[in-house]
Amino acid sequence: MNDIINGFVKEKRVKGLRQQRSFIYFRWMTLLLIIPLFFLVSDYPQTEKSFWQTFFLAILYNGFLTLLYLFKKPNNLIKKLINLSFYFDVILICTFSYIFKGIDSDIYILLFFIIAYYGIGKDILSTINISVFSIIFYSLSSILVKADNIEQINFLKLAIRDFFILLTAYGVSIVILEVKKYDEMHKREFKLARTDKLTGLANRHMLDQKLEEEALYCEYSKKPLNILMFDIDNFKKFNDAYGHVWGDKLLATFGGIIMQSIRKTDIPVRYGGEEFLILIRDLDLEQAKSVGDRIRRQLEKQNLFVGEGQKMAKVTVSCGIAQFPVHSDDIKKVVDYADRALYYAKEIGKNIVVSYDEIGKLREAVQVDMDTYLSK
Ligand code: GH3
Ligand code: MG
Ligand code: MG
Repeated sequence: MNDIINGFVKEKRVKGLRQQRSFIYFRWMTLLLIIPLFFLVSDYPQTEKSFWQTFFLAILYNGFLTLLYLFKKPNNLIKKLINLSFYFDVILICTFSYIFKGIDSDIYILLFFIIAYYGIGKDILSTINISVFSIIFYSLSSILVKADNIEQINFLKLAIRDFFILLTAYGVSIVILEVKKYDEMHKREFKLARTDKLTGLANRHMLDQKLEEEALYCEYSKKPLNILMFDIDNFKKFNDAYGHVWGDKLLATFGGIIMQSIRKTDIPVRYGGEEFLILIRDLDLEQAKSVGDRIRRQLEKQNLFVGEGQKMAKVTVSCGIAQFPVHSDDIKKVVDYADRALYYAKEIGKNIVVSYDEIGKLREAVQVDMDTYLSK
C-alpha cells in the first residue's frame, strides 16, 4: 500500500528537480546585469581586466551548469555538482563584490537569495553551512579590497552585514520548518484521500488512476492484468444480526486477509460497501483463480467471534474474475465483466470463484456436485 502512495510522492520529487532548473535563468540574468552595473558603479578602471576575466570564467561555469541541468535523470555525481554549485555562486558573488569595491558594492544582496533558495530546497543544517561559508568569503573579499590600508576597513559595517546573513539563515530555517509542516500535512491528506479509512486499502478514487497505469504496464509487458472482484455473501443478514459495528469489523478483517494473501505489486481496493477488488499483474487466469480461491477459503475457515456474547459466526465470500486485454481491451469493460462473473457466482450458490469465461458453464457442474452431496 505504501508503495502505491510512494509512487505519487516520487512523481512530486521529480517535479521539484525540474523546478530547480529555473535557477539557471537566475544565474544568466545576474551575469547579464552585472555588465551595466560594472560600467555604472565601478570607478576602478584598473579592475577592468580582472572583471572581464571573472566574467568570462562565470560564463564558462554557467554554461557547464546549464549542461548539467539538461540531464533528465541526474546521477549522484551530477547531483553533488549541482549542490556544490551554490557554494561556487557564493565565491563568484564575493569575487565580483571584491572587484566592485568590496563592502561598498550592493552585489552582496544576491547572497541572501542564494542562501534562501539553497536552504529552503534542503534543510536547516545546509542553510547554516552555506551562511557560514558566505560570511567567511564576504568578509574576506571586503577586507582584501582595503588590505593595504587596514584602518579604512569598516569592521562595524562588515559585522552588521555578517549578522544580517546569519539572520537570513535564521529566517530561512523558520520557513523550512513551516514548509516541512505543510508538506507532511499535505502528504497525510494525499494518502487519506486515496485510502479507505476502515480497511486501509486503496479507495475507488485511487482505482481509477491505477487502472490506467496497470493497463499501460500490460501493454508494455505483454502480460495480462487480472481483475478479481469480491463481494461478501449475505452481508446484510450479518449486519442485521450483529449490528453495523461488527459488520465494519468483518470488513476490516477481510481487508486484512486480502493484504496477507497478495504480493507487493498487486493492488487491493475497497470497491464499495462490502465489495473488494484486486488488480493482479503477470498471472495467468488459473493462477489468478487460485489466488481468489485462497482468499475465499481463508475467510471461510475464519472463526469470527461477534456481538456482546462473542458468538462464533461463519462468513463466506464470492469472487468474479476477468482479464485485460483477454476479455476486452477496454479496462473499464473488464471491471464490468469481473462484476458479471461475480453476479453469476452469487446466482449459482455463492462462496465460489468464477471467471468470466465460466459464466453459463458452471451451473450444471455445481448442480452435479450438489446432487452427489445430497445423495451421500
Ligand atoms: P449477497 O450475498 O447477494 O452479496 O447479499 P448481501 O446481503 O451481501 O448484499 P446486499 O447488497 O443486499 O447488502 C449489502 C449490505 O452491506 C447493505 C449495507 O447495509 C451493507 N453495507 C454497505 N457498506 C457498509 C459498511 O461500510 N459497513 C457496514 N457495516 N455495512 C455496510
Ligand atoms: Mg454487494
Ligand atoms: Mg454481498
